[in-house]
Amino acid sequence: MRLRINRFTPSRRDLIYSRDIEASLVQPHFVVSGKLRSEEIDDMPGIYRQSVDVLLDTIGRDMDMGLTSHMLFYVMDEELKDPIATMASEPDSPLNVAIRELRKRHGNEIVIFSDVCLCTGTDHGHCGVLEGEKIANDKSVGELVRIALSNAEAGVDYISLSDMMDNRVAEVRGALEERGYHETGILSYSVKYASSFYGPFRDAASSSPKFGDRKSHQMDVRSGYDEALLEALQDEREGADIIMIKPGLPYLDVLKVVSDEVLRPVAVYNVSGEYSMVHKSCPDSKSRGLMIAEVLSSFARSGASIIVTYHAREAFSGKLLR
Ligand SMILES: [Zn+2]
Repeated sequence: MRLRINRFTPSRRDLIYSRDIEASLVQPHFVVSGKLRSEEIDDMPGIYRQSVDVLLDTIGRDMDMGLTSHMLFYVMDEELKDPIATMASEPDSPLNVAIRELRKRHGNEIVIFSDVCLCTGTDHGHCGVLEGEKIANDKSVGELVRIALSNAEAGVDYISLSDMMDNRVAEVRGALEERGYHETGILSYSVKYASSFYGPFRDAASSSPKFGDRKSHQMDVRSGYDEALLEALQDEREGADIIMIKPGLPYLDVLKVVSDEVLRPVAVYNVSGEYSMVHKSCPDSKSRGLMIAEVLSSFARSGASIIVTYHAREAFSGKLLR
């Protein structure tokens, strides 16, 4: 555990320790190959898959507005996928190029999170390495370490482990230490449910499994607080710098229970299905603004120091929280 990781830069400190909800927002982005690409995602108005050149401009505008924390997801071209997501750790992958360019342009004023899971790069769409139809935990962790190191090398602030394999935080922390990445943090999706609220994201990231589901690694939606606490405390012990609860609104109670118990900062992911619900029920931007402010306040009240949300830009540009 390296307690200094969350304090290394002013922007990390503002994100994590500010009492201001606006400062705790993280905007997710989907990165694709090519040039001049910007494709709006079905069911997620205002959210795009963008090639690195366009993404840099988008994030540049966000930075000008004061929105300084960004989470990047790699949407890999189908023909590059294979059983172990080999291409996800390429130094020239759009995700790694984006990390390097953003760091070059914005220095330590930006906080960059990189999503690390195998599912956007595997041809079967699962979050791990398959043995038959089962996901092999420890082999999968080895591949996650490889991808995490490539993001660390590119200069990411936080490796964001979204896979839910057992013991991956310890393995990734160990590998980071071995290579001298003492300032690279880990955000762990510690308490991630096999939820029905991820639909629009899976379309966005083209990461749906080709068969079966994710119930052998993500948490059962019926599970109570004990398992949530075990997952969170184990990741904390293994060296996670931030503990994540996902989804948000249907699990506000879990967020409250976990944030009361763990000693590390807690993040919540206000997921794609929650975002779509707000947009579908409220296409009018003025009344939607009030709804968004209410949703974000509920996360802060339940103990989230960090809120990953597709609403971040709208909340900032509309000054919804001021
Ligand atoms: Zn996954």
